[in-house]
Amino acid sequence: MTLPKDFIEKYQRLLGNQAADFLATFEQEAVAAFRTNPLKKVQKDFSDPIANTLWGHFGRVSGKSIEHVTGLVYSQEPAAQMVAQVAAPQKGMKVLDLAAAPGGKTTHLLSYLDNTGILVSNEISKKRSKILVENVERFGATNVVVTNERPERLAKTFKDYFDLIVLDAPCSGEGMFRKDPDACQYWDKDYPAQCANLQKEILQEGMKMLAPSGRLVYSTCTWSPEENEAVVVWLLESYPDLELLPIEKINGMVEGLDMPQVARMYPHLFEGEGQFVAHFQDKRSAPSQPQKVKSPRSNLTAEQRQLWQNFSKKYLRIDLSGLLQTFGNQLYCLPEGLPDLTGLKLARNGLHLGTFKKKRFEPSFALGLALTSDQVKQGVTLSPEDFKAYVSGNTVSISGDYQNGWYQVLAEGNGLGFAKLVNGTLKNYFPKGLRFNS
Ligand code: SAM
Repeated sequence: MTLPKDFIEKYQRLLGNQAADFLATFEQEAVAAFRTNPLKKVQKDFSDPIANTLWGHFGRVSGKSIEHVTGLVYSQEPAAQMVAQVAAPQKGMKVLDLAAAPGGKTTHLLSYLDNTGILVSNEISKKRSKILVENVERFGATNVVVTNERPERLAKTFKDYFDLIVLDAPCSGEGMFRKDPDACQYWDKDYPAQCANLQKEILQEGMKMLAPSGRLVYSTCTWSPEENEAVVVWLLESYPDLELLPIEKINGMVEGLDMPQVARMYPHLFEGEGQFVAHFQDKRSAPSQPQKVKSPRSNLTAEQRQLWQNFSKKYLRIDLSGLLQTFGNQLYCLPEGLPDLTGLKLARNGLHLGTFKKKRFEPSFALGLALTSDQVKQGVTLSPEDFKAYVSGNTVSISGDYQNGWYQVLAEGNGLGFAKLVNGTLKNYFPKGLRFNS
């Protein structure tokens, strides 16, 4: 890989006698890894675990594999896995992922939350927010709202609201050069300083949303001190209530530059790509009473409520808690405890349950991905051959004594949406935009 001359000189200066080892890593391939998804109840034995992680494994997973399509795995290189691992939200927390697409940190945060609390996953780019929704849906969490907003607009709705905020900031991306050599082309010596200005602007908005005594995790996938330690110094000076929490250095992480609490990951020391992480605690004491928010209201008609209840009673074994809301003829279940989101651009208003069609209710693909097989009364299991036929858009013949009706489609035990079985033929409900031939 041809690295910019200014980049080479910068890191020769910064890394001294380690620079040669660091620069040599750009001749090696990027490290591939993935996380398994604890929300999926049927797990597989994957080899080559990443030490000191709950769900990390080295290796590559095909986007066409059953594990990927059912959301059992999420591809993410090892250094990027350290961000949500540092954040490690406790169950029940209200969490914001402020720059979330395509969803690596979001899905990892959801693994910790285990369908408790709330995650607001935000992405400013509309196009990228659609990819984020797809990845969130595949992961199958029920407690996440995806917004497509500018941070300053979010801050108006969520003032002092979140227990934990993660900003995995847009950055100069030096740590991604191996994975995406094109990222090199955007780099020039002034780029890190420009990125730092944007990072501070986003952090200023993020800080408005942090609840007293909350935590903030700031990360970048770059090594430039301008976007890392200098931003940390700026934060500590601008917000005297923040203090740095020490990050345990595992797997070859090293201290920051004149800053022992933060963590840097270099590919010659840590088996992964480039990453920087800082962890802050707000020292203000938590309010004795939880903050009151203006709650949204359910807007279902009596008929819609009845149709949903009929479906739920007939096909599901669980009562989905949360607030039911319709947008047009689409039914969603919002996590409880959210403020009124009116006025915000939503890419996913909670868990999509399904669609009202004339006098009936049709369950969504997202619902069939989110529920485990023991939460649904009836399912049909696809063989590996049937799986290939189904994801390419074909119907599948099901032999055996099955009544007509809705079934959760299962592959290796995990859900792949719902489909209607009519006289032994499973109709195809795999979304058109996701179909592929393998
Ligand atoms: N956290 C993501 C993950 O783990 O999959 C990666 C996030 S990426 C490093 C940074 C994101 O910040 C991009 O998706 C980008 O669109 C978004 N972004 C760019 N400008 C922004 C801004 N002004 N405010 C908020 N987000 C922004």
